[in-house]
Amino acid sequence: MRFNKPPYPTVYFSEEIWVKCPKCSEPAMVKTELPKYTIPFPWGHKSVCNCNHCGFQETDHNSWSGYLQGFVNRACGKCGSRISHTTEPTRDPYETSNVACEVCKDVRAYEIQWYRYRNDKPTDPYFGFDLWFQTSIKDNVLWLYNIDHLDYLNEYVNAKLREGDSRHKYSMITNLPQWVKSSKNRDVIVKKLSKLKREFEKTTVHNTGYRK
Ligand SMILES: [Zn+2]
Ligand SMILES: [Zn+2]
Repeated sequence: MRFNKPPYPTVYFSEEIWVKCPKCSEPAMVKTELPKYTIPFPWGHKSVCNCNHCGFQETDHNSWSGYLQGFVNRACGKCGSRISHTTEPTRDPYETSNVACEVCKDVRAYEIQWYRYRNDKPTDPYFGFDLWFQTSIKDNVLWLYNIDHLDYLNEYVNAKLREGDSRHKYSMITNLPQWVKSSKNRDVIVKKLSKLKREFEKTTVHNTGYRK
């Protein structure tokens, strides 16, 4: 079997994202109207999150529940050399971090500036809610936005022949971690994906409000 679907970027699947409702943990949907230009990130998009189970709604784009990454970028307080420091992504930002100057070795607490972090975390890119479609495989987390995204990945993982010629650097497949691409993990990934799909269908089958 051959995988020859178009090289969609991940953002292609991001118009309807299933998340865990932050209030009740049931599946809630983040719907997004994408602007014309979406790569590398869709600026000026419009998103709304709705939970049909508990009525939770979020439309405020300034609200971010996802991960943050902190940066210190300034002159050393002692010798004036450039200090640049990056923190691990976290959901609990703090005010300062002890950073050592590489030149004079002076250690001081410097104020951190935090920015939204979207890479490789199982959260939606618009509000930062936890994705509904996520499953751990060995030490990794496999995450997806919705059923179309899941089917697309499933087809790729299942394929014995994977065509790579027409892919670009933003294509979802190009950006998959190596452990997903490795044929060693094929069986376990396919199994986990179909389990996830079954669980999702069980959870939403009575919820006719979500059907198109
Ligand atoms: Zn809810
Ligand atoms: Zn210094």
